[in-house]
Amino acid sequence: MNRLETHVQNAPLICDGGMGTQLHGLGLQPGECPEQWNVTHPDRVRAVYQAYREAGSGIVETNTFGASRYKLAHYGLAEQATEINRVGVALAREVAGTDQYVMASMGPTGAFMEPYGDETEEAFYEAFKEQVLAFAEGGADAVIVETMTAIEECCVALRAVRENTALTCLASFTFDPQPCGGYASMMGVTPEQFARMAAEAGAHIIGSNCGLGPDNMLAIVKRLRAVSDLPLIAMPNAGMPIVEDGHTVFPATPEEMAQHVPAFLAAGARIIGGCCGTTPAHIAAMNATLKTIAF
Ligand SMILES: [Zn+2]
Repeated sequence: MNRLETHVQNAPLICDGGMGTQLHGLGLQPGECPEQWNVTHPDRVRAVYQAYREAGSGIVETNTFGASRYKLAHYGLAEQATEINRVGVALAREVAGTDQYVMASMGPTGAFMEPYGDETEEAFYEAFKEQVLAFAEGGADAVIVETMTAIEECCVALRAVRENTALTCLASFTFDPQPCGGYASMMGVTPEQFARMAAEAGAHIIGSNCGLGPDNMLAIVKRLRAVSDLPLIAMPNAGMPIVEDGHTVFPATPEEMAQHVPAFLAAGARIIGGCCGTTPAHIAAMNATLKTIAF
């Protein structure tokens, strides 16, 4: 199989959708560690991977987003970090076979680096390196450093990928609309700053996930395209969350998400999937739309 970055130079790919909601649907309880399920409930994690594969995703994204030792420490699982990451990837490899890519998810630590917090760059690097080595061992094709809002943390994670593996390296930031117009992350990073620094840190593919529905995400893709030649990934939420009867609901239907696919492609996105609120039904609709487009 081609490397992922080579593949997307030639043809766009649909990626998968949200993981958390699917796991909750299979019985994950509030307060339970989702990534521990890789070890304790492998059949259910495999079932989510399989559902997205059947929906037409060309990529299996792994259930390892919160599996840094920092996050796992909240559950007393820090010492199981290697196993949880390796098994999460190995399960994805089983489902993906040789015709789908396995993209290992690596999210923020939830801690802060000096001078904003007590953590050192070295400690972050070691935590990310631990995950990255387990991803490689499990058989990943790529690593996505995602839902990042702090550029320093993002770049440490990218460095851990590039210095310890030959895997394809993706960087994905989360932005919010700003009151005076434009976009920035929670930590004040603009799309243009992110694009430049992620490329310098060695990302092969850059983009954005979470935080925004498809309209705002499309604006982000255009801004990234204006300053970068790298392939772009876009993983919008299913609209902006609303509260209905005390529950948070993402309102965009599969059809609404699918309607945006042509615009994302025209704006330069080469990998299009979904984040919070998106389901296999959303991915199936997006894939059906992609297939109708000649390219
Ligand atoms: Zn999300």
